[in-house]
Amino acid sequence: MELDLLSKITALSKRRGILFPNSEIYGGIGGFYDYGPVGVEMKNNLKRMWWKYMVDDRDDVVGIDGTIITHPKVWEASGHITGFADEMAECKKCHQRFRPEDIEGKCPKCGGTDFSEAKKYNMLFKTEVGVIEGETTPAYLRGEACQTIYLDFKNVVDSSRVKVPFGIAQIGKAFRNEVTPNKFTFRTREFEQWDLQFFVHPSDMGKWFEYWKEQRMSFYKNLYRKSENLRFYQHPKEKLVFYAKDAFDIEYLAPWGWAENEGIHWRGDYDLTQHSKFSGKDLSYTDPITNERYIPHIVETSGGVDRTFLYLLFDAYEEETLANGELRTVLKINPEIAAYKAAVFPLVGNKEEITGKAREIYTMLKKDMKVMWDDRGNIGKRYRYQDEIGTPKCITIDYQTLEDGTVTVRDRDTMEQVRVKVEELKESLTK
Ligand code: ATP
Repeated sequence: MELDLLSKITALSKRRGILFPNSEIYGGIGGFYDYGPVGVEMKNNLKRMWWKYMVDDRDDVVGIDGTIITHPKVWEASGHITGFADEMAECKKCHQRFRPEDIEGKCPKCGGTDFSEAKKYNMLFKTEVGVIEGETTPAYLRGEACQTIYLDFKNVVDSSRVKVPFGIAQIGKAFRNEVTPNKFTFRTREFEQWDLQFFVHPSDMGKWFEYWKEQRMSFYKNLYRKSENLRFYQHPKEKLVFYAKDAFDIEYLAPWGWAENEGIHWRGDYDLTQHSKFSGKDLSYTDPITNERYIPHIVETSGGVDRTFLYLLFDAYEEETLANGELRTVLKINPEIAAYKAAVFPLVGNKEEITGKAREIYTMLKKDMKVMWDDRGNIGKRYRYQDEIGTPKCITIDYQTLEDGTVTVRDRDTMEQVRVKVEELKESLTK
């Protein structure tokens, strides 16, 4: 894979309504992107797939949908304010970060003299709640979506039928004022995360950590076509945050090399303990059978929706040279993710019997799946468009349809065309 792929994907996304730079008419704004008419359908399908896998298909996970703005103390408790607020430089030898004024020529920890350039590390977006001057409260857009799960932990336990071990899942926006947003939607300032916080008895952590590692890898292997582009990366022990016992990233082989897709973290009791401390509320759990009281430990799986979406485009993109020498661009994307399951074409746009029959078929299919109507330009152009947005099947209604009730179904990947009876169409498409 060449880096060139990134610019091809960026151009295709704009050309076909998958992703647009935000505020483009004003010259754009770094690190913000909008999903277009095709992209939003694909992204919704992607999120639905995750939700089904993580919530609907299981008995031990429930969902929430929390807010973007929370009580500002949340970010003190989480360490985001104090931990990231200062301008810092990193010692290239021991990787510790210091305020420039604390360095005085050499690293206070290891004596090293080589430092990265000092950067502001607080990536939280600040805002204010309230409108009366002098009475506003500072607040932050959430820097990670998962914090609302900890905030709702007690309410979920008290209001639902869950018992440890169980999980709370959420898909939602996170905001980071990244110093260098880059590589299209790989690193942006506003993005969505899909998170699971799985609460377990402390003695069961090892088992559940392994379990979720495997579950999450299997989700991605099923999602992408090329599973060889996935691997685990274990964080070296010396780089783990102090409360974490273990951490793995699921990495994807992007055009620029292996890059994070999702993190699987052994968070222990850190988050609930911190929020207990800062809020003064008891966040412990009492086992309904043994009456044992404890703070549940947490296995976290936290991935980027937009980043997965971008990797999916890399994974699906193909250029093929056809027999006539023409170049075909096609998104061989997982059919579950494709914006439209099929496109319906009347062969010609000016023959009432054909367009009428095509409308009838289109309306019938629309009841069960997302289909697109297209009567613009010649059939070749319509195929080109549908290939580029990854529509798995194209259905053409022609003169023969009027005679024998069959239509042409053309496959995106093989380009093979078969004639199918209208009555069997639905079944052949859902197969
Ligand atoms: P990175 O090392 O790439 O900055 P991270 O380790 O800070 O990521 P986490 O805080 O673990 O990321 O967030 C979980 C997931 O959210 C990441 O695996 C990634 O997919 C996604 N993510 C994080 N930051 C961004 C961003 N700026 N833009 C898009 N997605 C992001």
